[in-house]
Formats: sequence, C-alpha cells, structure tokens
Amino acid sequence: MSYQPASHPDHLSPDTVVVAAGRPERGHDTPVNPPIVLSSTYVGTGTVVDGDRAYGRYSNPTWDPLEDALAQLEGATLPALIFSSGLAAVSAALSLIPAGGVLVMPAHSYQGALVMAQEMAAKGSFTLRTVDIANNDEVIAALTGAGDKAASMLWLESPTNPMLEVADMQVLCRSAAAVGALVVTDNTFSTPLVQKPLELGSDVVLHSVTKYLAGHSDVIMGALATSNPEIRAQLLHHRSIHGAIAGPFEAWLALRGLRTLALRVERSQASALELANRLDMHDGVEKVLFPGLPSDPGHVRAKAQMSGFGSILCIQIVGGEEVADSVVQALRLWTPATSLGGVESLIERRRRHANEPASVPANLLRLSVGIENVEDLWTDLEQALAHSAQTISSTGL
Ligand code: PLP
Repeated sequence: MSYQPASHPDHLSPDTVVVAAGRPERGHDTPVNPPIVLSSTYVGTGTVVDGDRAYGRYSNPTWDPLEDALAQLEGATLPALIFSSGLAAVSAALSLIPAGGVLVMPAHSYQGALVMAQEMAAKGSFTLRTVDIANNDEVIAALTGAGDKAASMLWLESPTNPMLEVADMQVLCRSAAAVGALVVTDNTFSTPLVQKPLELGSDVVLHSVTKYLAGHSDVIMGALATSNPEIRAQLLHHRSIHGAIAGPFEAWLALRGLRTLALRVERSQASALELANRLDMHDGVEKVLFPGLPSDPGHVRAKAQMSGFGSILCIQIVGGEEVADSVVQALRLWTPATSLGGVESLIERRRRHANEPASVPANLLRLSVGIENVEDLWTDLEQALAHSAQTISSTGL
C-alpha cells in the first residue's frame, strides 16, 4: 500500500502547508484525510524484502503523510522520520556520534536529552562537553577541542529549555562544519513556523511532536528531519532496529493537530509577548526570561533568526521557591503540569524535577502560553501573584 500525496501549487506559505501537506491523492470519492492503517505486517511478493513495507516496525502508511508534511515544513528534501517520543528521536540522533567521539551540548538542554547524553558519556560511548550555548567563544573552543579532540556533533537547542538562551545558530553551524561536526537542532520550542534550523546550517532537526506540532497534550511522539540521504538511512536503520516507532493512531492524531499549528502559534506567541511585558513590570516578579523582550540578552539574535519569539516564557518569583510554589497553587485557569505546546496554558517550577540542573534558579516558573483569552490568563496570574504577596507578608518569607 503506498501513499501518493495530492499535488499542490509550488511555494505555498508554511501556514498553508500545515493544512495542505500530507493529503492523499485526489480522486472521485477519495477521503480528504489519510486513513489509519492498522497492520503489523504486509503481504509480500514471496521473494525479495528490500523496498517493500515488509513489517510494521519498518514502515506504516499512516506515518507517510505526517513525515511528508514535517519535511515540507522544515525544508527537508527527504521525508522526516517519526518516533515513539521526542526522547526516542534524541536517542536515534545521538547514535550518529561515532564511538569515542565528542558531543558538544548546551548545559541547559532539555533535561531528558542532557541526562541521556550524560549517561551515555559515563558509559564511555562518547565525551560530553557542556557549554553556555549563548557564548560563541565557549562553544567554538569546545568544538575545536583547544588541543584536545575536535567535536563529532554539536547539539543545538535555541531557545533552550528552560533558560531560553539563544544560540548564534549560523555562526555555530559554520564552526561545527569547519571541524567536521554534525549539527542536530532541537526545534521543539520554535516549531518550523518560527525557525528553520536546516536553512541556518543544521544537518538534522529534531522535534518533540508531543508539544506544538501535535498541540493538544494527547500524543507522545518525536521526529527527525534531514536532507542528507546517508544520515537519514542511519536514522531509519536505528528506528527499525531499536524499535521506537510511533503508533498509527498517534501519527493520525499528530497530523490532525498539525492542521491548526499556524493559528495556535500565532495566538499563543502574541499572548506570550503581552504577558511577558506585563510580568516584567510586576512587583512580584524578580526577572522575566523571554527573548521577545528588548532587554533580554537573546533578543537581537532571536530577531535575526526567528520569525517570532515563541510562546514559552520563564519568570523568577520574588521571595524564592516556596513563594513560587504558592503562586502555582493559587492559579485556577493555568494548569500546574509539566510539558508545553498544548492549547491549554501550563505552568511549573522546573527545579521540582530532581534532574533539573542546579544552575536553573529554584524560584523559576516556566509558562507554556496556550490559546485562551489573554486577559483571562493575565487575571489569573495577577490574582495568584497577589496571593503570594500576601503569603510573604503574613509568613515573613
Ligand atoms: N525536546 C524538548 C525541547 C522537550 O521539551 C522535550 C520534552 O519536554 C523533549 C525534547 C522530549 O520529548 P518527549 O517528551 O516527546 O519524549
């Protein structure tokens, strides 16, 4: 069974691509949506296996339209590869590092990716050099090795989770290429509508599809996209052999979620900027981390390489971690939960996770701004911050 995409005019804008890509070929009475195919194996010719779908761990027709749409959005010339989770995609990407190689990674990468890299490095798979990804000199020194071994891979996450540091992507991609290092960019926070890592020089782009792409906090999935056939073949082999594949239902649901990505991103980004500006002037907030604020250290870079500033912002609460916890508990519309990128606004104190690096401030709250009415979101934040101010004055915190 093969998936034949419907043909569309060339050069559609990305907010049309999210709607139009991954549609089946048109014919009288054909469905407008791709069907869900539930089959663990496929009828073969009885002779060769190569080139056939063969088995459900190698391929599924429900994956194809989503992989096609993700590739189009990221500007990859080959279909993307979807995985059972974002971390499964991280694992496949890290498998590209040769034994004994060197990985350069942001010290504030998503903590799951960081822990995986730390554990693999501890077992001797590769050497890990963590860096302040916003500091070009430090990253370039780690890439060249300064007398030691040069890097095999540069991991980029920009803005980082949760410190929202912005990497100088083009400069760092060029520096990585100069030492022969592959670049993998986790583009989960920005989405391909806001940032295009392959155009900025990255070899591979990674997504936790769980977040904005699927968008409704009901799917766990990852994806990788590249235009390099050898790299894609290695990643596909890793997926087939390690078996971290997405279910057909999840693939269908993620494509359905993707259809509204442009609307969701537009709305949540506008709200995030508005809330960041208001929070920046609030007495209960010590600091706002958000590249959309002109005062933010990442603002100029973000403006140059992103078409917006994303919908995640972090705030440090006056009074420390207990007060920050009391703000979260006092919220009634914002949901206290980990994760991000869904239609509903989520908030959490990141250091409540044991693995979160100690360099992430204990009073830092990460806000994933959803698509609710911005005034409702603000009213809830204001009342929770007022509640925490009362806590400070009554307990002397
Ligand atoms: N990358 C980033 C930036 C993330 O925030 C996450 C999850 O929070 C992941 C990767 C991992 O994705 P998943 O939870 O789908 O495994």
